[in-house]
Amino acid sequence: MKWMEDELAKLTDASLERRLRESAAVPDRPGYVRRGERVLLNLAANDYLGLAQHPAIIEAIREQLFIGGAGSGASRLVTGNRPLNGYLEEELAAWQNSEAALVFANGYMANSSVISALAGRGDVVFSDQFNHASIVDGIVLSRAEHARYRHNDMEHLKALLNKHRDRRRKLIVTDAVFSMDGDRAPLQELALLKREHGAMLMVDEAHSGGIYGVRGQGLCHELGLQNEVDVHMGTFSKAFGVYGAYVCGNRTLIRWLINKARALIYSTALPPSLTAGISTALGLVQTEHWRRKHLILASRQLRSSLSAAGFNVGSGDTPIIPLIVGDNAVALRFSEALEGEGIAAVAIRPPTVPSGTARIRFSLSAAHAEHELVDAALRIRRIGLQLGAVSP
Ligand SMILES: *Cc1c(COP(=O)(O)O)cnc(C)c1O
Repeated sequence: MKWMEDELAKLTDASLERRLRESAAVPDRPGYVRRGERVLLNLAANDYLGLAQHPAIIEAIREQLFIGGAGSGASRLVTGNRPLNGYLEEELAAWQNSEAALVFANGYMANSSVISALAGRGDVVFSDQFNHASIVDGIVLSRAEHARYRHNDMEHLKALLNKHRDRRRKLIVTDAVFSMDGDRAPLQELALLKREHGAMLMVDEAHSGGIYGVRGQGLCHELGLQNEVDVHMGTFSKAFGVYGAYVCGNRTLIRWLINKARALIYSTALPPSLTAGISTALGLVQTEHWRRKHLILASRQLRSSLSAAGFNVGSGDTPIIPLIVGDNAVALRFSEALEGEGIAAVAIRPPTVPSGTARIRFSLSAAHAEHELVDAALRIRRIGLQLGAVSP
């Protein structure tokens, strides 16, 4: 295994080695995280609505744990399909106003198996260059051709659609909100192109489900595009504060996935306790509107303070705020300095983002109070000045 050590040494030298760090929840303080002895403001989680510690969700999980046991024991196609799954899927379909829904163990498994169930050899999948890794892996698994278009570049997508106009099946897939840039996909234009070219459209609402739309249905609903989207995917591990994922669409799609999505067929169903927790979270997502409102306002506020301080925060308007510094080593030093100032935020480096665009990625939560973010912005600015990442 000498080769491995050599490759790892190269990663370390390039400030690219990833290491596991321990982070613990802080009881009753959902916007914070404990690292070692210190409690840090958590600007590095995806608990957007601050639901991960919600007592009603925890109670639902606890109660079902005693009724349903620790694990579900089998795949949903064998004996793991508890009645709770069916209830949840009915609630999901009603929430999304779709004919049907299907729950998966997590978003990674949903994307990788749904895409490989929708396309195969001889087909083509059109995918934004910044789409999530689980989408990319789904395309690789599908054996279809990967037509990767430049980020949000509809002219490039159009050219690729024209080039592949005679293919058997075409699937366009996009994140609704991009995980590392916090900007939105041009969903309206994607819906037009999909129609024009007879393609299917799949949207991943991992970072927008729960956050946009009057009842948190996501960006497609907010824009009135829900009927244009053939495959609507989202996760329960971010805004919902739990774990798991969903796909909504018509009955035919869901029947197809039950027969073809390998992550559903060949993997054990979610523990019943989690399914119960997700159902409770779905109720809260739909009714506790203040969480969405506060999150959007707080994001706008932090974004504009950082931008006014001279940082490059990209072009988005969502609760994901990138602070682009460019250099890998500067990004690492920045995140270490933030930790020293009581803020947890990760340095994101290649290959997760294109080289030369290393950044600090901030993600906000409805659990953060306005004054905490005002204070954080001052500390971030001070560090930026010290590191020369922003001019005075
Ligand atoms: C996090 C994420 C996923 C994976 O979801 P998990 O439930 O964490 O596996 C999929 N797509 C996008 C865009 C994501 O950000």
